[in-house]
Amino acid sequence: MTGVRERNESAWLIPNDGTRTNHGLRRDMRRFDDTDEVDLVVVGCGAGGSVLTQRLARGGWTVVALDAGPFWDPDRDWVSDEAGSHRLYWTEPRVIDGADPVPLGSNNSGRGVGGSMVHYAGYTPRLHPSDFETYARDGVGADWPISYQDLKGYYAAIEEELPVAGEAWPWGDPHTYPQRPHPVGGNGEIFLRGARKAGITAKVGPVAIVNGRFGNRPHCIYRGFCLQGCKVNAKASPLITHIPDALAHGAEVRPDSMVTRIEVDERTGRATGVHYVRDGISRFQRARMVAVAGYSIETPRLLLNSASKRFPDGLCNDFDRVGRYLMVQGAPQTAGRFDAEVRMYKAPPPEVSSEQFYETDPARAYKRGFSIQTVSPLPITWAEHVAAQGHWGSKLREYMSDYVHWSCLGALCEFLPRADNRVTLADEKDRHGLPVARFSYSQGDNDKQLMKAAQQVMEDILHAAGADEVITINRYAHLVGGARMAADERHGVVDADCRTFAVPNLFITDGSVLPTQGSANPALTIMAVAARAADRLRGSKR
Ligand SMILES: Cc1cc2nc3c(=O)[nH]c(=O)nc-3n(C[C@H](O)[C@H](O)[C@H](O)COP(=O)(O)OP(=O)(O)OC[C@H]3O[C@@H](n4cnc5c(N)ncnc54)[C@H](O)[C@@H]3O)c2cc1C
Ligand code: SF4
Repeated sequence: MTGVRERNESAWLIPNDGTRTNHGLRRDMRRFDDTDEVDLVVVGCGAGGSVLTQRLARGGWTVVALDAGPFWDPDRDWVSDEAGSHRLYWTEPRVIDGADPVPLGSNNSGRGVGGSMVHYAGYTPRLHPSDFETYARDGVGADWPISYQDLKGYYAAIEEELPVAGEAWPWGDPHTYPQRPHPVGGNGEIFLRGARKAGITAKVGPVAIVNGRFGNRPHCIYRGFCLQGCKVNAKASPLITHIPDALAHGAEVRPDSMVTRIEVDERTGRATGVHYVRDGISRFQRARMVAVAGYSIETPRLLLNSASKRFPDGLCNDFDRVGRYLMVQGAPQTAGRFDAEVRMYKAPPPEVSSEQFYETDPARAYKRGFSIQTVSPLPITWAEHVAAQGHWGSKLREYMSDYVHWSCLGALCEFLPRADNRVTLADEKDRHGLPVARFSYSQGDNDKQLMKAAQQVMEDILHAAGADEVITINRYAHLVGGARMAADERHGVVDADCRTFAVPNLFITDGSVLPTQGSANPALTIMAVAARAADRLRGSKR
């Protein structure tokens, strides 16, 4: 990993004195006035926004990154307690509908500096080369205006910065990881054993969890609270992997700042800055360029809420593309009971995965595929799993007291992009008086077939490992799309460099730009796309 520190010093900027936050760096960060016309204002400090901020601050740009949520301090704000962590979620109101509505809240998006990666599980697989051309290969989905090769170097760079631990990866474009695989707990052992017996290849990783010391970030302590915000700083999130370096290079991160509108000069057609609310006061940050990275729901919502005389149907929405092709992955979970104790909470939930069923299999009726991973829910999430099966009262108590005997796997099914799966504005308003997002979602036949196939494989694995009972629930994970990348403005909102077709100095650098999603967890791809966009921007004129 020679060279990581030279291009991103974040892990070395974290203190080495038992505390988790470099308070001096935050206190002394450069601050800009609203009236300063900075080179770039970034909306949202999550996976995409933080990487862009860090890269451009390093390139000497003046950057202000605004986030609607707080500047988290792991020592002060996070607790090793499942219920106590629910305030990490984005819980502002949203409306859902469609034939298969997607519940929003805990399992979808986060708020605050670090974004959803603060409480993401930590799996960081790459997309496969096929994901960039699903239409050309399989006649479904869409082709990206870039190929896997365009992202390959950025994948490798981000894997070093997080860093990622795992076995040599045989699927997609075979590659290795910078850190060796972690030892696995009870749930991981069951997956590996069951997969071996069922003739399925499974591998340890890939997870963005430190295996050994990395800079001043310590080794994982295997207590399993990754989805509650890792207090130890072993699990990667932009709060510790990119923001410290951004601050050290002169970026300002302004928390508790909800952006309400992007301003575009009607005369020049260029963005001039963003309106935002902080401490109840409406303010305006001037900027030469604007990048939006507010997550797949909030990014299209902000564009739609930025309608003007020039863009009466929403900013960049001349061709009715904003908010469309929003995707979720089908994420059924199958649990198996074993006589021996499993104690799935005694390890990070992300441990072992398989991408054997990722690609289109010509022998199957459906296109594309799914991946399988350990998920290891803590007790409250386990109770939700059991209750979703219809167990209640004394039966629920029985399952709960049997918790240590259960193992749990999850699948990620590649649901296909559909134009009608979209964000629009609802009549309801939020506390700032802004229309909230309405998210309509319906599954297609291919999606439903994938869910069934994935369930079957998970049940086979758990039975092969010796489970005497298996139960499955259907759920969703990971929203991407809604402002997708395309070859032209009739098919998408941004070009290959994440620049909007309609406004030349407005960029979108979060998961919204993904045209397809594969069955890989999205964070690494979002960071790689943002890193590429930053490189392209650095090469262009400010
Ligand atoms: C429970 C859970 C588990 C997950 N597990 C995994 C996993 O194992 N692997 C994986 O790859 N992915 C996982 N994900 C998904 C992953 O975290 C997200 O896909 C990724 O973080 C999205 O990146 P983003 O940049 O699009 O948005 P985010 O990272 O969500 O960042 C958006 C930021 O924008 C801010 N914001 C939004 N609107 C505004 C506004 N108007 N003004 C100012 N700020 C605003 C938000 O506060 C937030 O901080 C998981 C997600 C969750 C919720
Ligand atoms: S298991 Fe490891 S990565 Fe997960 S919260 Fe604990 S220390 Fe962090």
